[in-house]
Amino acid sequence: MHTEANCIFCKIVQNEIPSYKVYEDDAVVAFLDISQVTKGHTLVIPKHHARNIYELPADVARDVFQAVPDIANAIQRETGAIGMNILSNAEAIAGQTVYHFHMHLLPRYGETDGFD
Ligand code: 5GP
Ligand code: ZN
Repeated sequence: MHTEANCIFCKIVQNEIPSYKVYEDDAVVAFLDISQVTKGHTLVIPKHHARNIYELPADVARDVFQAVPDIANAIQRETGAIGMNILSNAEAIAGQTVYHFHMHLLPRYGETDGFD
């Protein structure tokens, strides 16, 4: 497992800093974003450290994408959301602030949910 000493998401994987985990398997962790853009805003990450999608090995990508439908359905059930945006930012120009690949799962509730 490739990890980076100064990476905050590697620390979350290793339980060195606390997070509210909603899913975990051998290769993947999902946890609530510390800044909830909408209720239930969740990040899905591989345990393997990769900077972003450009550097994501194919086998790691398979593990992450394989886990996403079940996580999305669980969030949908728990929150009562009526839809979801799923996205990943790569590099600063696109809004990336944490350089460990992650997918945002953003539950949507309607016009007033605050996310454009
Ligand atoms: P990015 O801007 O890189 O696409 O998304 C990084 C996300 O990580 C942000 O939405 C930010 O709120 C979240 N985040 C940053 N630090 C932490 C942390 O320590 N814990 C959790 N749960 N989320 C974090
Ligand atoms: Zn990392």
